[in-house]
Amino acid sequence: MNRSTTKAPRKAYGYLICAEEPIGNREKAHGMARHYAGIAGNVQRRFLDHCSGRGAHLTRAFVQRGIPMQLVQIWTFTDSEQGSAWEQARAWEHAIKSHKQHRDFCPRCQAKLRQQSKPEAQPQTPRAGRAAERRPAYQQQPLLMGMG
Ligand SMILES: [Zn+2]
Repeated sequence: MNRSTTKAPRKAYGYLICAEEPIGNREKAHGMARHYAGIAGNVQRRFLDHCSGRGAHLTRAFVQRGIPMQLVQIWTFTDSEQGSAWEQARAWEHAIKSHKQHRDFCPRCQAKLRQQSKPEAQPQTPRAGRAAERRPAYQQQPLLMGMG
């Protein structure tokens, strides 16, 4: 009995959902929303909940309007000396929700922004660089720096 209860590090996950279109009040600067961030022990199951209209007001609103949602990013937290997996996930959730601009953490929106702001044809670098570009630094250190 003991071996199943010891030293198997638990995991918790932070996730970011990005909707195809934003909803809300276009008149207000921050009135539009297209992202939802949350934490879960089973992200796939939680995402299915969101897609079926359960889980959060915002994601239910997307479902009601027929706006597709995509799970665009997952952060993994493991029990460690920094705290339990859930403590770390909750700290991450607090940080990302207080940041407001979830777009900054969304690889899909960031890719679109890069395309739009691309001045002209950029020089092609055939080999290196590409794979590293796709893996932003915050994926490695998810917002936990400077949280005391
Ligand atoms: Zn997005």
